[in-house]
Amino acid sequence: MEPFGGDVHSALKRYFGFEAFKGNQEAIIRTLLGGRDVFVLMPTGGGKSLCYQLPALMSEGVAIVISPLIALMKNQVDAMCQYAGNDAIAHFLNSSLSRSAANQVRADVVSGKTKMLYVAPESLTKEENIKFLRSVPVSFYAVDEAHCISEWGHDFRPEYRRIRPIIKEIGVRPVIALTATATPKVQHDVQRNLGMADAAVFKSSFNRTNLYYEVRYKNKDTDRDLVRFIRSNAGKSGIVYCLSRKRVEEIAEMLRVNDIRALPYHAGLDAATRSANQDAFLHEQADVIVATIAFGMGIDKPDVRFVVHYDIPKSLEGYYQETGRAGRDGGEGRCIAYYSPKDVQKLEKLIQGKPVPEQEISRQLLVETQYYAESSVCRRKILLHYFGEPYEEENCGNCDNCLHPRRKVECGQELVCAIEAVQATGERFRAEYIVNMLVGRRTDEIRSHRHHELEVFGTCTDVNERLLAAMVRSVRPSPSQIRSSVSARKVEAAPCFVSLPTSSLSNAQKTGTLPEAFAARKPSSRPNTQPRSSSRRARINSFFAPRQVPRVRTYRLRSSPSTSSSCTPAALATTLRKLPEDSCMP
Ligand SMILES: [Zn+2]
Repeated sequence: MEPFGGDVHSALKRYFGFEAFKGNQEAIIRTLLGGRDVFVLMPTGGGKSLCYQLPALMSEGVAIVISPLIALMKNQVDAMCQYAGNDAIAHFLNSSLSRSAANQVRADVVSGKTKMLYVAPESLTKEENIKFLRSVPVSFYAVDEAHCISEWGHDFRPEYRRIRPIIKEIGVRPVIALTATATPKVQHDVQRNLGMADAAVFKSSFNRTNLYYEVRYKNKDTDRDLVRFIRSNAGKSGIVYCLSRKRVEEIAEMLRVNDIRALPYHAGLDAATRSANQDAFLHEQADVIVATIAFGMGIDKPDVRFVVHYDIPKSLEGYYQETGRAGRDGGEGRCIAYYSPKDVQKLEKLIQGKPVPEQEISRQLLVETQYYAESSVCRRKILLHYFGEPYEEENCGNCDNCLHPRRKVECGQELVCAIEAVQATGERFRAEYIVNMLVGRRTDEIRSHRHHELEVFGTCTDVNERLLAAMVRSVRPSPSQIRSSVSARKVEAAPCFVSLPTSSLSNAQKTGTLPEAFAARKPSSRPNTQPRSSSRRARINSFFAPRQVPRVRTYRLRSSPSTSSSCTPAALATTLRKLPEDSCMP
């Protein structure tokens, strides 16, 4: 690649008006300009785009930028042309262009005016486009949102798998792959699929110290809680994510009824409404956007102050990316997720409709999210560990588990029985199944496996099931261990979310302790709200009654259950040693 725009610093100043690079930007740009493949892992807001935009401006030929969303593409092209003060410097080529507009784009590329050509993978696979691109000098390929290549990523797009063969057809040039979220296994998958195993890898820290993470238990008061939370952040911008379009509409309506300026956003709305709602949010005419995950990619609003997940997200990776839209200016960003095991069951049902290989992956991603939600370990530690980044601090000081450590509950033989049941069934069954066994429920499934004949069956008949479920999930093998036992797929990094306190376990002959699964936290002070009357308001929950302070739940397990012979201290000592070695013990 022949740089013709002078050195990188003067190019940065000339094209973008910046005095200095951020983080790894300069090293990345120099490596790419040197002709080497580059893999860039940089959290949202880190200045990813500049890593290919600047080299494109400095290189001979046109850079092919492969990007997944047409709407996103237009924004980036507009921004680029504005920066450079040149309407031909960047173009996009996709199905939304008229024939004459597409011809103009091609003419600008051929004349050398265009330095960046954005294409969607679908457009890249078209024969006429391949033929055209073969006829022009290409400086390099940039694959944006590269995690879409991996089926282990949260946003897998099969057409991304065809990028490498097409690059070979057009002509091999350096490749820069960029993403804001990639676990080690996603990264491995991306590099392998793009044929860039030897690429220079640049990873930035995933730790967003300004973001506060919290998980709240979802119950019938959740709508009220949400209203109170948003009211306590009056005048600030926020996003509320829901899993379904229907839920988006309901929550947006519920918030509006409660005098919150909220608008819906999902793929089921027509394009004009979507874009009007998005603009209203960007231009502060609405405080809250209630959306499916369709909203957010490429949205550059630096002062989003909170991101709420009304439903549990399908993967931790997606969760990280979505929460990453808060506090991009470095200011406050509160990330609240509502969690209910029932939501997980609903998602599991949806997963059953998918093709079998996809089922396994989706279930796995969900298990990891559930571990996050139920864990008493620092949220930041879990998230960073998920992305392969160690976090050694004892207390991050900015998550619910660190600021308000959970109450512990005592449990003795139940813990032994849970371990016993998990092991006796070959560590292959879901937590709900194990719970059914422990409480002595003869389901068809249990009978078909003849597990009602096991000694451990029915040994916890009078234990709170929710606590039991949390306990079982804690003693089950870590997700990666389940995965490696059922699949030959290579797993690179194992997230670990078991949250049993080591000290209690080591001398747990009589009493084990377990973090209370859903301990109610001390309510923070919130502004008073006054009732309003309206029949419609009354119909769609309007929440203005004085807040009821939730009673702190305390689970106390029976201390001397009738035990089977296997639930003995000796058996416990044996089984404890068999707990997953990579368990995170707080
Ligand atoms: Zn923490």
